[in-house]
Amino acid sequence: MKKATIAIDIDDVLADNAAGFVAFSNAQWGTNLRPEDYDEHWAKLWRVDHEEVERRANQLHESGVLNTYRHNDAALPVLKRLSVDYDLIIVTSRRLQVRADTTAWIHKHYPGIFTDETIHFAGIWDTIDAQSIHRTKADVIEALGADYLIDDQLKHCQAVAAAGRTAILFGDYTWNQADTLSKRIVRLNDWAAVQEFFTNEAGR
Ligand SMILES: [Mg+2]
Repeated sequence: MKKATIAIDIDDVLADNAAGFVAFSNAQWGTNLRPEDYDEHWAKLWRVDHEEVERRANQLHESGVLNTYRHNDAALPVLKRLSVDYDLIIVTSRRLQVRADTTAWIHKHYPGIFTDETIHFAGIWDTIDAQSIHRTKADVIEALGADYLIDDQLKHCQAVAAAGRTAILFGDYTWNQADTLSKRIVRLNDWAAVQEFFTNEAGR
């Protein structure tokens, strides 16, 4: 029988993006941001226009700082166990510009779990404009036929759940709070909870 597929986000699921991002922003542009201030809507976070976001995004992505982001120690043993029963893929909204850095980082910190072919880029931010913030991973998840998405961004979870798939809203973050969640969205705060969830799925 074909294994079910779990699509996994990188930033703030496998990588400490918010912490790395605000540290870089504070050093580079004199902002005074804390990780809990993070918002993937960078124009809103910095209160600058799309042109300036583009300029800063290029600077950030070309700096190599993404290579220094901390990984989540708790994820690797869970991924190893899940890989026995599931096909694991990455679906990130990072730009194609950082594909090489990103795949190298994944192989370094999560060795043997993903191949270059299983690391997918959703293309949401490749062109930064007013529509970028509204784009979701739903189309890519459909195209890849993933059964589950693990992601810290509410909008991706909502879009995937609306398409009839199961979304795991990862982490208890300032940017992913919600009063109510659809029954196809499960909030799990850490990788131990993810392990427990899939153990229960297997027993259903
Ligand atoms: Mg993320």
